[in-house]
Order: sequence, then C-alpha cells, then structure tokens
Amino acid sequence: MKNARILLVEDEAPLREMVSYALSTAGFVPQLAENVDAAYKLIDAQLPQLILLDWMLPGLTGIEFAQRLRRDEYTRDLPIIMLTARSDEADKLSGFEAGVDDYISKPFSPRELIARCKAVLRRTGAGEGSETLSVGGLCLEPESHRVSVNGTPLKLGPTEFALLKFFLQHSDRVYSRSQLLDRVWGRSTSVEERTVDVHILRLRKALKPYALDHYVETVRSAGYRFSMPDTK
Ligand code: CA
Repeated sequence: MKNARILLVEDEAPLREMVSYALSTAGFVPQLAENVDAAYKLIDAQLPQLILLDWMLPGLTGIEFAQRLRRDEYTRDLPIIMLTARSDEADKLSGFEAGVDDYISKPFSPRELIARCKAVLRRTGAGEGSETLSVGGLCLEPESHRVSVNGTPLKLGPTEFALLKFFLQHSDRVYSRSQLLDRVWGRSTSVEERTVDVHILRLRKALKPYALDHYVETVRSAGYRFSMPDTK
C-alpha cells in the first residue's frame, strides 16, 4: 500500500496542494491533474493504484469521466473515490451505478482522506488480503481465522467470519442481500436471500456482548452496511 500512486483530478489549485501534501505525508505518491485531459496523459503513461476524482470538473463531470474509465478495459478496475460537495449528495446513487468505490464530502480533513484511501486500497486488493483488519478493538486475522475484541477471542461460525471479513474490507457501503450472497457466498450459490438475515443476526449476537453489534446496520429496503466510526 505504501508508495501507491494516487491520481488526483481536481480543478481547484488549493485543494490539489492540500491533498498532495496529505498524500505525500502518508507515504503515497501523489499525481496531480487539473482536468480530464491531463489525467488521461498520466493514466496512459502509467496506471495509478487509485483515482481521487472531483465531481465538478470543467467540461466533463467526474461521473462522466468515471463512466468512461469503467468502459475502457485498461482502466476498468481502477478504484475511484469521488470528491463531492454536500449539494451532490442526492446524486450519489448515480455515482455508485457508474462504479465509483467511495465518496468523500467536501470539506474533508487530511485524516479522513487518508483513512478513505487506505480503506479503498485495502478492499480493492493491491495484492493484499492477508492483512489484519481491525476497528474499535475488533480485530480479524484472515490467515489464522482468528477474531478478537480487545484481545479476547471471539467465536464465530465460518459464514459469520466470512461476513465480518467482507464488512471490514467494505465498510460504509450498503450491500443488498443479493450482493452479499454474490460476494460472500459466491455467485453460484443456491442459498436464499433470507439466509443472509439469519447470518447477520448471528453476527450481531456475537458482537452484542462487546456492544459492537450496532456496527452492522440495517438499511431499510436496501440491505446492510458496516459502519466504521473512526472513518466518519
Ligand atoms: Ca471542482
């Protein structure tokens, strides 16, 4: 994750400076573009590991740019974080449909920016996946299949373990039951959607004695979301 190249596409110079400084300080390699043309030049030369994309760019909007990147084989899997103003919140859904990985609302702190970048880099792979995942005293070690809370081992069934691992790698995003089935059980599963609810319930029950069950949120008529308090 260290030395990951992160491309910022942003037309506001002060914001480019702030983000560039924050990224360098965190050990990333920032690449800066003030418009889509400049971004393409950098991308064509070498693929970055992540793009921070301003929603409102002169000419093409960030969403249109994101859609182009998704249509192109070369850039299809490139992780994208959109930088949005509060007024764009209502349009987030169209962004997720365009395949955007995450959002950061302006104004944001360098700390939040770095946390989001790390989270997206972690969950989009970058060749990792064996890294210990932890939040608020909850700690999951993928390789040894161990989960603990403040050092106390937590017993989880295999499905609850897989669910928790997925949630820790994909926090702050809403997943429908069918998406969770695809991602946690696998696309070929014949398991029914309500089975997801059963395992969510079990996971919550296991987390409840530690008052961590509220991390697993039910999003009405949408699905579930794992909210990490320290990235908010
Ligand atoms: Ca802008």
